[in-house]
Amino acid sequence: MTNNKNTHVNPFQVAQHQIEHAVEQLGLPQDVYERLKNPDRFMEAAIPVEMDDGKIRVFTGYRAQHNNVLGPYKGGIRFHPEVDADEVKALSIWMTIKCAVAQVPFGGGKGAVACNPQQMSAKEIERLSRRYIWAMSPILGSKVDIPAPDVNTNAQVMAWMADEYSKIRQYNDFGIVTGKPLEVGGCIGREAATGKGLAYVIREAARAKNLSLKNAVIALQGFGKVGSATARFLGKLGCKIIAVTDIFGGVYNKNGLDPEKLSEYCRETGSVKDFPGGTDIGNEELFALDCDILVPAALQNQITAETAPGIKAKIIVEGANGPTTPEADVILKEKNIFVVPDILANSGGVTVSYFEWVQNNYTYYWTEKEIESRLELKMVEAFNHVFAYMNQLENNVTMREAAFMYALQRLAEAMKMRGWCG
Ligand code: NAD
Repeated sequence: MTNNKNTHVNPFQVAQHQIEHAVEQLGLPQDVYERLKNPDRFMEAAIPVEMDDGKIRVFTGYRAQHNNVLGPYKGGIRFHPEVDADEVKALSIWMTIKCAVAQVPFGGGKGAVACNPQQMSAKEIERLSRRYIWAMSPILGSKVDIPAPDVNTNAQVMAWMADEYSKIRQYNDFGIVTGKPLEVGGCIGREAATGKGLAYVIREAARAKNLSLKNAVIALQGFGKVGSATARFLGKLGCKIIAVTDIFGGVYNKNGLDPEKLSEYCRETGSVKDFPGGTDIGNEELFALDCDILVPAALQNQITAETAPGIKAKIIVEGANGPTTPEADVILKEKNIFVVPDILANSGGVTVSYFEWVQNNYTYYWTEKEIESRLELKMVEAFNHVFAYMNQLENNVTMREAAFMYALQRLAEAMKMRGWCG
């Protein structure tokens, strides 16, 4: 199975280069790049946790606060055995850009703990989550830096984190994290928001490229919170999902897989592997399938110089953060594949996180209908703003370049107004 570390691409260098490139393309002053190339603040902490056998294990936790010119730092917390400082810094940069593209008034942040939650009990994960928040509490705050779920973290983890932070502050501060369960200030639809937002973007991209979604053939990598929700919403739009992989394996059926049944099977078994009604498939075969739309929704550095030449999809919509390496991007551009970048495509999560945070601050909660229609509006607007912006640029720029330029322009203007750069 493709591993994100095998490709030796440093995501932090990639993110820095993307900013530098957009600054150059826009002719912005060099100090805009100097201000944005590193996070405003980066914290690394030792997280001691008592394991079920009574022994103490010390994990490494990170929090990167990239830029807050447009609002408080905002970004998920990832639990993953291979996560490192540069990955967290890169993800925090992409959050700054994503919030600027999506027009939600947040900056960029990201957090992580290097751990393998699959080998930990629920109690150990709870102690780790609480201790992480305790360690990071000096730099967090519901008006300062607001975490959320990411890879291997979920609403339950957010509930523990909100509870721990509220204990430290000695009052309920539900706005400290988003992606919480409904019972403790969560927002209806947050769990599926990134996948639903992605499905709206896929619909808009298909429309822009004159591709009918009815029976459009989809291949999907990753079947976690983002991938599974995307599959379910695409199923409702009439798409045919022919292949899905996760970390344990994959399943393929040229006549289509039932996303609801696959989700149910995955909830029961923990994987899509061996789903009855399909044959085995791996990531490399999945990327090379004859399909209309390819959706990487697992981890970074999956579409590489090795896999990109074999891709046959007409459209790629990035659910994961940083799934395409820069070398692969060049190949996809040459192949005339329309790539909707992560910083636009997966912004449904942070958009509904913003709705959750607004509701927490007002202690007034919206209906499902209100949230759904606001999400759809935001996603459609974000896609069409960037698409129109790209089309008005002279030099055959990609959607990724256009999204970076669009965000950089907003950020540079705000920083100039605040006297942060020239
Ligand atoms: P998750 O932990 O719920 O799911 C991750 C999925 O990827 C799992 O199905 C896992 O098995 C699969 N996976 C991991 N390694 C793989 C590999 N080598 N090959 C195939 N599959 C693999 O995480 P998630 O929240 O769904 O996040 C997925 C991606 O989307 C991440 O890049 C994340 O940063 C990004 N993202 C998530 C959100 C959100 O709201 N959760 C928002 C924006 C972006």
